[in-house]
Amino acid sequence: MVQGVGFRPHVWRLARDDRLAGQVLNDGAGVVIEAWGAAAALESFLRRLREAPPPLARIDAIEREALGGAPPYPDFRIVESREGAVSTGVVPDAATCPECLAEIFDPANRRYRYAFTNCTHCGPRLSIIRAIPYDRANTAMAGFTMCAECAAEYGDPADRRFHAQPNACPVCGPQLWLEDRRGPIECDDPITEVAERLTAGGIAAIKGIGGFHLACDARNEGVVAELRRRKRRESKPLAVMARNVSQITGFCAISPAELELLGGPAAPIVLLDKVEDMLAPSVAPGQGRIGVMLPYTPLHHLLMAAVEGPLVMTSGNLSEEPQATANEDARARLSGISDCWLMHDRDIVNRLDDSVMRLDKPGPQILRRARGLAPDPLPLASGFSHARLLLAMGGELKSSFCLLKDGQAIVSQHLGDLEEAATHADYRKAIGLFRDTFRFEPECVAVDLHPDYHSTRWGEALAEETGARLVRVQHHHAHLASCLAEHGMEPADDATLGIVLDGLGLGTDQTIWGGEILLGGYGGFQRVGHFAPVALPGGAQAMREPWRNTVAHLAAAFGEDWQGRIAGTTVARMLAERPVAMIEQMIRQGVNAPLSSSAGRLFDAMAAALGVCPDRQGYEGEAAMALEALAAPHLRHAGPYSIDVEAEGGPRIIAWHDLWAAVIDDLNSGVETGVIAARFHLGLADMLARVATAIAEAAGITRLALSGGVMQNRIVLESLHGALTERGFEVLTQSRVPANDGGLSLGQAVVAAVSDQGE
Ligand code: ZN
Ligand code: ZN
Ligand code: FE
Repeated sequence: MVQGVGFRPHVWRLARDDRLAGQVLNDGAGVVIEAWGAAAALESFLRRLREAPPPLARIDAIEREALGGAPPYPDFRIVESREGAVSTGVVPDAATCPECLAEIFDPANRRYRYAFTNCTHCGPRLSIIRAIPYDRANTAMAGFTMCAECAAEYGDPADRRFHAQPNACPVCGPQLWLEDRRGPIECDDPITEVAERLTAGGIAAIKGIGGFHLACDARNEGVVAELRRRKRRESKPLAVMARNVSQITGFCAISPAELELLGGPAAPIVLLDKVEDMLAPSVAPGQGRIGVMLPYTPLHHLLMAAVEGPLVMTSGNLSEEPQATANEDARARLSGISDCWLMHDRDIVNRLDDSVMRLDKPGPQILRRARGLAPDPLPLASGFSHARLLLAMGGELKSSFCLLKDGQAIVSQHLGDLEEAATHADYRKAIGLFRDTFRFEPECVAVDLHPDYHSTRWGEALAEETGARLVRVQHHHAHLASCLAEHGMEPADDATLGIVLDGLGLGTDQTIWGGEILLGGYGGFQRVGHFAPVALPGGAQAMREPWRNTVAHLAAAFGEDWQGRIAGTTVARMLAERPVAMIEQMIRQGVNAPLSSSAGRLFDAMAAALGVCPDRQGYEGEAAMALEALAAPHLRHAGPYSIDVEAEGGPRIIAWHDLWAAVIDDLNSGVETGVIAARFHLGLADMLARVATAIAEAAGITRLALSGGVMQNRIVLESLHGALTERGFEVLTQSRVPANDGGLSLGQAVVAAVSDQGE
């Protein structure tokens, strides 16, 4: 990654230090350096280039060969890009670099307290790009004409701001102001003013880099609860921004590797284990982890320096809508939520939510891939270098799309739930931008098997319009392929056993799948094992109301007399208040109760049985996350449940009778629910490791892949990964794209590419 990151001026400076002659230019594949000089000088130049590239660059490989003749210039020059070369230049937005940070806190610097300070090593990128090439005229900076001093920096290859497209200063760049419902607020310094209002218990909308945040004092329970009420966000955890690492240690544990994630140029939200109850309880009710981030723009650094404690920084929206990006929109949509607005006049062109990551034993995991991470391209195995241009449309929830081009996959930022009209509009807009930016006319379009996903329909229309070939990819096959792709597996690698634990996805037999063991690769798969199908009473209702799944699971495990089996337990008491007879009837008659092998619904059923979110969950995964938090403290002293698996020739069917029988026994003997939750997690991982080992050994397979939304459960992921690694398997997990449906588009792209090459 060498374009749009200050690579050529960096090369220029190194070459000049080593007194080399020659030139540096971009071409379609990367950067070409032609250099003449003494052998020792050339070696020193290459070594320094390799050891200390510019902060945002990434060098995958350097190829070198001897040049004949004489240098084209007596000195070293940066020349314009080679004719016809596509200069993409679209890189992720990057957190404020140390040099810029020092400038904004230095009273002698002309950028002292300037909220839009940036340079070639940091600042907005994807969030401000309207079109290509990536020049100032094609960004949200077009309306700001550089002053003489900024222009001089921009034109000087020796300067850190050489060709920094968003370069700006207080004289010529974007400005901040504070307003409320009545209009602009007169004040000396909008940041000091908003900080005072936040400290006094106010709620402020703050325009950031990829959208508006809603901010309030994270220690003040009254205002956090009020923010939840106004935003109509019942329970989904709120992210917190802390001034620095020492402030974080006041409420969360943090390891050096987690610190590296937090402080890197992507500056994502990182989920950290809570250690102190210093924050308001409403920040993350029922959760053992808090989503924390550090300031990543000068505006945030200045704001955090002006308030005492950490701030809640949650997306500026109502409930599930996409966050606001335009000033007008923020005024209108946040008028019932926020008391004041910290505004600026640089447009946000592309909405980018905060990325969310977590550090697990197998490595870093991306839960939401957006600001700071997208659209960083992912190099694929060499077998994909001649694939036709391909666009994969992604899923329905947590949607993203993916372009496959020149052997690379470019996965878009997280766009959200396509059922939301505004999100769908953003999704279409982003596809248009990416197609323009990467000069891309798809020859092949990949969609999910599900005919009713908005992404499927839009993909069908696009294929129709462009004449591209349409390929439908099974949901869990795409999850598996996504994991294989990010590990550089070749198209012909067809011998991986995938354990895909997921919510819901349409299967090749038209039933709903979710807990799947798949054997194969990009080219195809066998469904060698799966969770036993259990009814989803009420379809979508079953996703919102966990107790429905408890009824379905108990009825499936114990048959007609299931109520007798649970008599006298806390589960029976929980269900006594609910319309169980209606649910039973739906299941018996098969009316609006499709069968599904979902892993997500098993977790919902177990959570509700143990009294965790039985009535309803505000978002998918809430009950499962709370169940995991309940289990976490008991892992050491709780033994796994033993779960038996039927195998008579066909696929292994994982049924839950023994599990539920053991849970009911434990409840009857008064075992703590946390211990039961721990035994459930460990038992599930233990059983999956045993089943996978048996299948893999029988098939002569040594490589396993773990994917699907339920793999975001740290206990299941780490136990399973540990058990399989111990048995000597190579175990692949996802770390470049989410294991949830956010990573689906990558999997669809590679499956479709292989199917396309086979045509
Ligand atoms: Zn900088
Ligand atoms: Zn200026
Ligand atoms: Fe999925």
